[in-house]
Amino acid sequence: MLEIVRAKAKLLEKPYVYINRDVKKRISFLNFTSSENLYASQQIFVKIGGGSQVRLEISEDAAFELISAETGQDTYQIVDKDSREVLISSASLVPLEDPILHSPGQALFNLYKSCSRNCMYCPLPLNQEKTEFMDRGRFLKEIEGLDAAKVKGIGFTSGIPGGWSYEDLIREMSQIIMALREKYGKELTISANPPPVGRNLIVKLQEAGLSEIRINIEVFNHDLFTKLCPGYDFEQTCEAIGNAVQIFGKNRVSTNMVIGLGETDEDVCSGIEYFARLGVITILSPLDIVPERINDLQRLSGGGVKRPDWQRLYNLALRQKEIFSKYGVNPLLHLRTMCGRCSSCNITPFVDF
Ligand code: SF4
Repeated sequence: MLEIVRAKAKLLEKPYVYINRDVKKRISFLNFTSSENLYASQQIFVKIGGGSQVRLEISEDAAFELISAETGQDTYQIVDKDSREVLISSASLVPLEDPILHSPGQALFNLYKSCSRNCMYCPLPLNQEKTEFMDRGRFLKEIEGLDAAKVKGIGFTSGIPGGWSYEDLIREMSQIIMALREKYGKELTISANPPPVGRNLIVKLQEAGLSEIRINIEVFNHDLFTKLCPGYDFEQTCEAIGNAVQIFGKNRVSTNMVIGLGETDEDVCSGIEYFARLGVITILSPLDIVPERINDLQRLSGGGVKRPDWQRLYNLALRQKEIFSKYGVNPLLHLRTMCGRCSSCNITPFVDF
């Protein structure tokens, strides 16, 4: 099992894969992320063994290559493109059930593709194009053809339009949640990733019918947080996450922590422990570098910005599992959607190993 985790960490360090033309021809589908992804590109979801799957972007310059395995029509191997060393000996591809999906079984929408807050690692504030908020009417139109039977969950996130208060945003989100409940009934898992709003607004989302919530801490280091997330407050964000778990319950709230912003492993682990004690699932997401932002990021973080190497990802995952186990935190218990369950871009204790 740990062999797979180690191999997954290597893939996540450089999450790109080359597929030659002959192999491509044999793949009857090729997945694209939904148009919600600002940096949408052609990519595949690959089951690599155990409960693990990984999302890889298709690229000519990848360090890894997907080749056909001799054992069967739909079986593949992932090898080092230069040395031909086999990293994954038996892999299968996971098709997206519907082109609108973001990941297997999950639809994810970004209601507003720009943002008035200026988190320094995020691509949304760079989106200067005229962008409109996807309100209830536009949202329902977007999912018109979606076959709910093929979907485990529908989630949404949103940038914050300039001049909007948190109340404005939560009112719009609540209307979408109520519309989804009306259309699909109570079986559908609905998840949302709001900013760190106050307790009464989290209650509003729950009353509207939200099943799962994620409020991101991003970096568990007060000084770095203040520099890199100038639109938010560290204490207020921790408080919002604590309120969310009181309202939604243990193991039903997650928080994203980006790895590679200049934080230490001790920052990461004390954050995982702080939130695990509350019953919150921390997701460790390797930094996706936005080229246009790297200089500002390096300047503000003191030069420590770097996508983590595989050893760091692997070691942090092992420590994360120890902490989760100590506090009874387990994404398999209640989470149905989002990264904590999908785990294609990160390593998640209990889902992966
Ligand atoms: S791990 Fe998260 S970001 Fe990656 S494909 Fe799954 S849901 Fe999307």
